Amino acid sequence: MAYDFDLYVIGAGSGGVRAARFAAGFGAKVAVAESRYLGGTCVNVGCVPKKLLVYGAHFAEDFEQASGFGWSLDEAQFDWPTLIANKDREINRLNGIYRNLLVNSGVTLHEGHAKIVDPHQVEINGERFTAKNILIATGGWPQIPEIPGHEHAISSNQAFFLKELPKRVLVVGGGYIAVEFAGIFHGLGAETTLLYRGELFLRGFDGSVRKHLQEELTKRGMDLQFNADIERIDKQADGSLKVTLKDGRQLEADCVFYATGRRPMLDNLGLENTGVKLDGKGFVEVDELYQTAEPSILALGDVIGRVQLTPVALAEGMAVARRLFKPEQYRPVDYKMIPTAVFSLPNIGTVGLTEEEAREAGHEVQIFESRFRPMKLTLTECQERTLMKLVVDARTDKVLGCHMVGPEAGEIVQGLAIALRAGATKRDFDETIGVHPTAAEEFVTMRTPVAG
Ligand code: FAD
Ligand code: NDP
Repeated sequence: MAYDFDLYVIGAGSGGVRAARFAAGFGAKVAVAESRYLGGTCVNVGCVPKKLLVYGAHFAEDFEQASGFGWSLDEAQFDWPTLIANKDREINRLNGIYRNLLVNSGVTLHEGHAKIVDPHQVEINGERFTAKNILIATGGWPQIPEIPGHEHAISSNQAFFLKELPKRVLVVGGGYIAVEFAGIFHGLGAETTLLYRGELFLRGFDGSVRKHLQEELTKRGMDLQFNADIERIDKQADGSLKVTLKDGRQLEADCVFYATGRRPMLDNLGLENTGVKLDGKGFVEVDELYQTAEPSILALGDVIGRVQLTPVALAEGMAVARRLFKPEQYRPVDYKMIPTAVFSLPNIGTVGLTEEEAREAGHEVQIFESRFRPMKLTLTECQERTLMKLVVDARTDKVLGCHMVGPEAGEIVQGLAIALRAGATKRDFDETIGVHPTAAEEFVTMRTPVAG
């Protein structure tokens, strides 16, 4: 049977755009449907605007530290609407770039909500199109627990478009988004509380990293409330929010921001018309080739709930395009050694195993740790300290993990990820000549293990 398209991609986010463009480049006839915004979460309400706000928040420290270097400034003023308007302009520019990327690579763009009507057919804007393969790349959506008053809370989707900077913000959650946005609000001058249900935030990150960030945020005056959870939120007559915790305490805020994870975006997608199965957490179940239980339908990115990061969605998109249309170039995505950064202030950068994971996996570990005051701060009052940590296999000398909390940790860890993928040993690190004077050189000068 002749289909309208070889591949119909639903969702023009990180993974969908990558798969569509590469498939078209390999000669396939490709369409992509997008219901909201070109570029998806990352470009519109994720990585990009988030990083711009983090840059904005960082200026508070820069101004404070400048006096140590002889600069004097009148009292610095911050204007949230200006930052948001400039951010929006940049995102519009990127939306245009995404449109050109798709159109110039020969992909047909359908703007609207796509619904799968049978395993080879999609409906959009009242029209139906057939395709040999359908790719679900619909991403995720913020998930707010349905406690009484949850309608008064916002998620990251709204945070990027607030009309004004709230005076008092309560951020709920202890993952990437909570920690990053708490840093943004705090840096920009809001009275910020981070409320997390567990003992210590950033579950799954290295223990030293979690502790170090806790200390640094406390030094900066952020209010961290662990072992705390919200029971209800009530709006008061003056518009502020009264938050009652499960332990009976009450807090007041002007904005309650939930960052409690993301669910797969499957709303009105028509999966009931297919044999696609979901896993125990509701994400689309796929095999190692991104194949769902329905032979003609594939899925990738956040909607499959593996690793919710843009570079992973990009790699999966590339793998799907190659697998379908350039099988001789197909290479599976390697999910080991994925570097990642949390753009908290200070940043976290990490790649490889945490100390806890390495021990659990049965490695005999050697730990190298360094804590120091960054050189840039020596002329300032700021007492911030950087943490660097290496987890090494004592038997093979292989470096299993690198972790950092400090300025530019994300930038520094990218290069280390290449070394770890290539199987670098501690000896390789030791024999690598440092770049002086940098913070990064500390990674090649740690000599004495702190624990065995
Ligand atoms: P998405 O980018 O979400 O794209 C899915 C697209 O599908 C959307 O555009 C959606 O509108 C569209 N869609 C959904 N349903 C339909 C339908 N039925 N019809 C048509 N279109 C549809 N990752 C990083 O690596 N680094 C970061 O710094 C980072 N920061 C983040 C900050 C925030 C606040 C958030 C929320 C996420 C962040 N992420 C970050 C994660 C990253 O954004 C996601 O992992 C990535 O966008 C996933 O790509 P995707 O292609 O799977 O889905
Ligand atoms: P995460 O899964 O990272 O964190 C969710 C947090 O919310 C956890 O601390 C979790 O606690 C807590 N939580 C979950 N459910 C509840 C609940 N019902 N009540 C109270 N707390 C709850 O999700 P995020 O929303 O922060 O981010 C989603 C994903 O987006 C990330 O996992 C990441 O993959 C990606 N992302 C990446 C970024 C980057 O690369 N810099 C930046 C932002 C997002 P517990 O640990 O106890 O389960």
